[in-house]
Amino acid sequence: MVTEYVAMTEDRIDQAAIDHAGAILRAGGLVAFPTETVYGLGGDALNPESSRKIYAAKGRPSDNPLIVHICRLEDTEKIASFIPDIYYRLAEAFWPGPMTMILRKSSLVPPETTGGLDTVAIRFPVNKIAQALIRAEGGFIAAPSANRSGRPSPTLAQYCREDLDGRVEMIIDGGQVGIGVESTIVDLTEQRPTILRPGYITKEMLDRTIGEVDVDATILAGTSAQHPKAPGMKYRHYAPKGDLTIVEGRRDQVAAYINAALREAENKGHRTGVICTDETRALYRADSVKSAGTRRDEATIAHDLFRILREFDDEGIDIMYSENFDAAGIGMAVMNRLMKAAGHQIVTIHEDGSVTRTHPPKETLGRPEYREA
Ligand code: AMP
Ligand code: MG
Repeated sequence: MVTEYVAMTEDRIDQAAIDHAGAILRAGGLVAFPTETVYGLGGDALNPESSRKIYAAKGRPSDNPLIVHICRLEDTEKIASFIPDIYYRLAEAFWPGPMTMILRKSSLVPPETTGGLDTVAIRFPVNKIAQALIRAEGGFIAAPSANRSGRPSPTLAQYCREDLDGRVEMIIDGGQVGIGVESTIVDLTEQRPTILRPGYITKEMLDRTIGEVDVDATILAGTSAQHPKAPGMKYRHYAPKGDLTIVEGRRDQVAAYINAALREAENKGHRTGVICTDETRALYRADSVKSAGTRRDEATIAHDLFRILREFDDEGIDIMYSENFDAAGIGMAVMNRLMKAAGHQIVTIHEDGSVTRTHPPKETLGRPEYREA
């Protein structure tokens, strides 16, 4: 298949191109498009054949549910069988925007779209190109991130091209995305609302709106005996091609540890990389030292993390170390993605200077067959 490319901005929507993209989607084709979080790989959410094509294009296991994107709150009634009051309160506070809510699904939504679950994940994005496309499609676009399974989510159209050229009918270039990590997912089908995936909308923001929400135990843990509700929560993904380790501890000790590890890697002939911050960048020496942003505003780190992981790949970096980040607020999303990218390889430097190292969970050793996307 030959992929068509179009470019536009949110203030200058190319309506003819959007109408054409909408027709592609209605005919069962696939279109990658920008949202405020990351680029999405869209198909008609109500067409089982489209969902099958999404899984095939991504190389993603088909039991991994897709998020249904809407552009009118009232359309929820068509795809959900029960809508609790808190859904509307959260929608009022955070939609359109980077938050996904899970409800019981109606029969209109095929099991192919929800990975066989009887629930459906719903999001109303704020990006104007995304909204125009959903409207042109007819209202329900299933869209996971527009990357090949296991790779970092795309924050630029060129990354969609790298992963999906020839696999989708069209890619819409809307420039660099604003947020850079995927939406916060909140499950409203449990007794207490539960965050299944952290994102830009933080636990603190949700707590303030609807009272204390739970956080799924697997979000910052390596593995869990319990079966995660969102598949992929326990698998390595967002992964760069090389080997990434997170080092946590006091700043100066972390830098000393990482520099020593880098020298050792260099001596073995590796190309090395570091993920740090504006505050610490001068401390490191490596083939590629990348500041992800400033600790004064961790949203800057979320914004650039996936781009950095892809750049390391492009630069042929095969051994990488990252500082750890504070897991409060948006930092929870940053650490969740970083830990997955690292396959949960974490070195901890304790107060007394002793060092412990996690052994990566078994299923993350090597390159697993099954990776979330
Ligand atoms: P994305 O790659 O952004 O499309 O993320 C899709 C993710 O949303 C899946 O991997 C799941 O983690 C989560 N998800 C989607 N639908 C559901 C659902 N019905 N129940 C639980 N998690 C879901
Ligand atoms: Mg994804």
